[in-house]
Amino acid sequence: MGTDDCLFCRIVAGEIPATVVRETDKTLAFRDIAPKAPVHVLVIPKEHFVDVVTMAEADPEVTAEVMATAAIVAEHEGVAADGFRLIFNTGPDSGQEVAHAHAHVLGGAPLGPMLA
Ligand code: AMP
Repeated sequence: MGTDDCLFCRIVAGEIPATVVRETDKTLAFRDIAPKAPVHVLVIPKEHFVDVVTMAEADPEVTAEVMATAAIVAEHEGVAADGFRLIFNTGPDSGQEVAHAHAHVLGGAPLGPMLA
């Protein structure tokens, strides 16, 4: 169920444009609007969960589908062989800005240390 004030629910609903790279019944993958690496794709469940923990507790199947979609995106984006980073920011200390569970798929160049 979408929420009117959630940015990513509005992308799922088609109310805000996004560059979609993959879509399944339950997930959507689209390019981050402010990429932090040559490849930076967000993979989200279409259903609204505030973060990955909430999603994993409520729906392990869609959680697995988000992970599987992230792996397929990495392959299609050409970063699977050289490696990539999969990040789920979760809660205030992580800097999570959008309260809709999302995986960042980052790659395409050496990413440096995990934390700046
Ligand atoms: P986080 O800080 O983990 O919540 O990540 C939120 C991400 O959403 C950031 O990397 C933003 O650049 C990205 N973002 C914000 N608005 C949009 C948008 N309209 N389309 C695509 N990505 C977005």
